[in-house]
Amino acid sequence: MTVQSTPTAFADRHIGARRQADVDTMLKAIGYDSVDGLVEVAVPDSIRQETALKLQDALTEVQVLAELRKLASKNKTAVQMIGQGYYDTVTPPVIRRNILEAPAWYTAYTPYQPEISQGRLEALLNFQTMVQDLTGLPVANASLLDEATAVAEAVLLMRRANKSKTAKDGKTVLDADLLPQTIAIVKGRAEALGFEVEVTDLSAGLPDGEINGIVLQQPGVSGRVFDHTAVIADAKERGALVTVAADLLALTLITPPGEQGADVAVGTAQRFGVPLFFGGPHAAYMAVREGMERTLPGRIVGVSKDNAGVPAYRLALQTREQHIRREKATSNICTAQALLAIVASMYAVYHGPEGLKAIAETVHGHARVLASALQKAGRELVSETFFDTLTVRVPGKAEKVIAAAEARGINLRLIDADTVGVSVDETTTPEVLSAVAVAFGAGPVGHAAGFELPASVVRTSDFLQHPVFNTHRSETQLLRYIRKLSDRDLALDRTMIPLGSCTMKLNATAEMEAISWPEFASIHPFAPDHQTAGWRELIEDLEADLTEITGYDQVSIQPNAGSQGELAGLLAIRGYHHSRGDQQRTVCLIPASAHGTNAASAVLAGMKVVVVATAADGTIDHADLTAKIEANKDVLSCIMITYPSTHGVYDADVRDVCDAIHAAGGQVYVDGANLNALVGLAQPGKFGGDVSHLNLHKTFCIPHGGGGPGVGPVAAKAHLAPFMPGDANKAVHEEGHGVAISASRYGSAGVLPISWAYVKLMGGQGLTEATKSALLAANYVASRLDEHFPVLYTGEGGLVAHECILDLRELTARTGVTAEDVAKRLIDFGFHAPTLAFPVAGTLMVEPTESEDLAEIDRFIEAMITIRAEIEQVAGGDFTVEKSPLRNAPHTAAAVVNSDWDRDYPREQAAFPVHHLKQDKYFPPVGRIDGAAGDRNLVCSCPPLEAFENTADFEN
Ligand SMILES: *Cc1c(COP(=O)(O)O)cnc(C)c1O
Repeated sequence: MTVQSTPTAFADRHIGARRQADVDTMLKAIGYDSVDGLVEVAVPDSIRQETALKLQDALTEVQVLAELRKLASKNKTAVQMIGQGYYDTVTPPVIRRNILEAPAWYTAYTPYQPEISQGRLEALLNFQTMVQDLTGLPVANASLLDEATAVAEAVLLMRRANKSKTAKDGKTVLDADLLPQTIAIVKGRAEALGFEVEVTDLSAGLPDGEINGIVLQQPGVSGRVFDHTAVIADAKERGALVTVAADLLALTLITPPGEQGADVAVGTAQRFGVPLFFGGPHAAYMAVREGMERTLPGRIVGVSKDNAGVPAYRLALQTREQHIRREKATSNICTAQALLAIVASMYAVYHGPEGLKAIAETVHGHARVLASALQKAGRELVSETFFDTLTVRVPGKAEKVIAAAEARGINLRLIDADTVGVSVDETTTPEVLSAVAVAFGAGPVGHAAGFELPASVVRTSDFLQHPVFNTHRSETQLLRYIRKLSDRDLALDRTMIPLGSCTMKLNATAEMEAISWPEFASIHPFAPDHQTAGWRELIEDLEADLTEITGYDQVSIQPNAGSQGELAGLLAIRGYHHSRGDQQRTVCLIPASAHGTNAASAVLAGMKVVVVATAADGTIDHADLTAKIEANKDVLSCIMITYPSTHGVYDADVRDVCDAIHAAGGQVYVDGANLNALVGLAQPGKFGGDVSHLNLHKTFCIPHGGGGPGVGPVAAKAHLAPFMPGDANKAVHEEGHGVAISASRYGSAGVLPISWAYVKLMGGQGLTEATKSALLAANYVASRLDEHFPVLYTGEGGLVAHECILDLRELTARTGVTAEDVAKRLIDFGFHAPTLAFPVAGTLMVEPTESEDLAEIDRFIEAMITIRAEIEQVAGGDFTVEKSPLRNAPHTAAAVVNSDWDRDYPREQAAFPVHHLKQDKYFPPVGRIDGAAGDRNLVCSCPPLEAFENTADFEN
């Protein structure tokens, strides 16, 4: 393995336009002689970093994989029986290889363009249906970030939704048997928002006082299964809403929360085939009762229909989300956990209702066997009603039991000096049960004696009756189902995805390889530190590299999405002001062009959003900024700016903006989601930022997964160090840390090897060259397309940064053809559309990234120019806009191969607008989707199959 298989530097593969002839072609179009000359002009001197990045020299793919092997070998795998929200599981190999490790699934983007996303939308609808069935509630979303933050979202939902005059401002009551990390996260959120949280044993009844909502857990962290009916009824009587955090596997045997009267159910789908991943990424879920769907956070897949009346999936009720509602959004969550939700849904498709129930029965049976052996040996169980988890009292001997188990290769949960927890899962064998019993000083296990679930909590209702969960039982059938769905979609494995602000770049195979190695994937987040040295070394190394890249003093990779990094950074700012006695500093200035998550996160951090206007050239309006600073100078907390701005331009005055904020006692938050324009060239920590978040699922190559996973590290200057994310699993809040942001200490640790590998493969020089190439590509697109679609904003020398906004508003006014028409027409050319209507309505924002070859970029430009000619055909009267190939795009095979073709343009133009499509043609499975119809008539579970066979039925 020491022999290099390929002498080519990895950067030459990561960067698309690498041949000098291609670079020269691009430079010529822009009018420059050299890339450095272009960069000199594009990037303002005032922000340029003075020294090259000090990172380890680039490694080859072979070397990086060898280094990862070394790190992996420093982790110690064990039989993981710690539980506490994380359980070992078997990822069926057909799902691991064909979804988790399949680029058709992991390189897809969030399904905002539904016509090219029907496959992943169906898989996510299956996820929703699965959650709805198991929880007994009618509406579920398509995933949240982790269980603890999902409970926090549920608490906030209850605070929004409770309209009872007396109860709505009451306290939130958490049952003491909730996961400790959940309690820590909810308390952290509540502190910033200023509402009261009480933790109490709800099995003893409700506390006094007005109560907004209560949260129960089924089974509790102790393992106890408890009949919630009475406490739920009491809560309702008192005007409180009810959330139950529930284990999906347990719900195959236990009465679902919906049937007990809960308003909300939340939890994790991790144990449905998603590896432990040292804490994440895992898909959390949330389901609500009827009438609450409009307050539900996260994305919801719904069923609508296309322009031929064919049922089609799309994201529903998007007006709740931050893109539109900003500071009034139901949540700041944008990137969630789509890929993991898809894995979990396929696990249910694979096992079906009987299979899931059989797994649950085995788990419960094994737990009963162990309980019997322990009880026989005189060990005391804290609860004799349980599903999979036993809490065992061993006065003064807990550490000894843990050590005895570890000596047998088994991790148990150390609760305190007198108490040990054991969680059984799908992988537990009788041999393991005996070894655990012996560690407790009991004899080997025999048969289960007692411990049946009481009839009052036994589930009697059916679940997962839809055919999708009952037909794909053979592997052949399931493989074809997975393939059929992915074939309906366009992901990066088929086309460039030129989405401005999203940075859809190469997710190299070598970067992806390590994530499913057991020494990384099978580690429990609460495994003892001496078993996780490799993981922690990798994480510290990545944090150090990101510190160097950003120019800050420290980085925490805990936040598991950009939105969570924003919250972490804003809470750090809040903590800093509070530490100086500046409690009144609560105003957050946000430019009008900012990403919607910024405003939504500011609200969650307890801040008041004040919007700063945008000037005609796309930069911050300095007069308005000065006025807003002056008006708020005593209460100014911070400004949140995106750099380069969401307009894709480097604002040369950014240092002045930062100085003005600092002079007024405020802090500067630099949204670093656009770091692809900065790496190696400029450092937010050096040009005025106090804190930033980065999106590793953009700049640092973690694939988008169809809408997650993500990692949103928070990077900050030294003075904010004491307020960086703490550990939710620490019993007491650690001095010198801020509140926890994610359930586990390292958030979505499982995908960090991807970014680690990317940085090592590129080295400082490679990363810098990637940034320069991204600038070259964006400026090439801008200069080639400007005469067809004017580029809205440019900076120094008429140049853009890493993306450009194409302005269609004048064309729309003249011809009626909209930016959306262009986006949909691009599908007929086999392209995923650029970002539509953000940050400016009526525009498309194009970000080619450094990973695309000149040939692919030219194919895109050719498509855009061809489309421009079609717009001229509308202007020239060849057809009306309604009858144009633009408004009728995208064209399905069924539409084109139709004996009743009656359009004003030929079929060839519809399907093959450019010649080479005749060989390589993607036909979308559905035509243009009517979004509004789906929102009027919300259907968000698997529709009966007849709906797809008889479209007439669907119409009513
Ligand atoms: C993508 C993005 C975000 C949000 O990141 P998520 O991971 O989706 O939460 C925030 N700001 C900007 C500028 C972005 O492009």
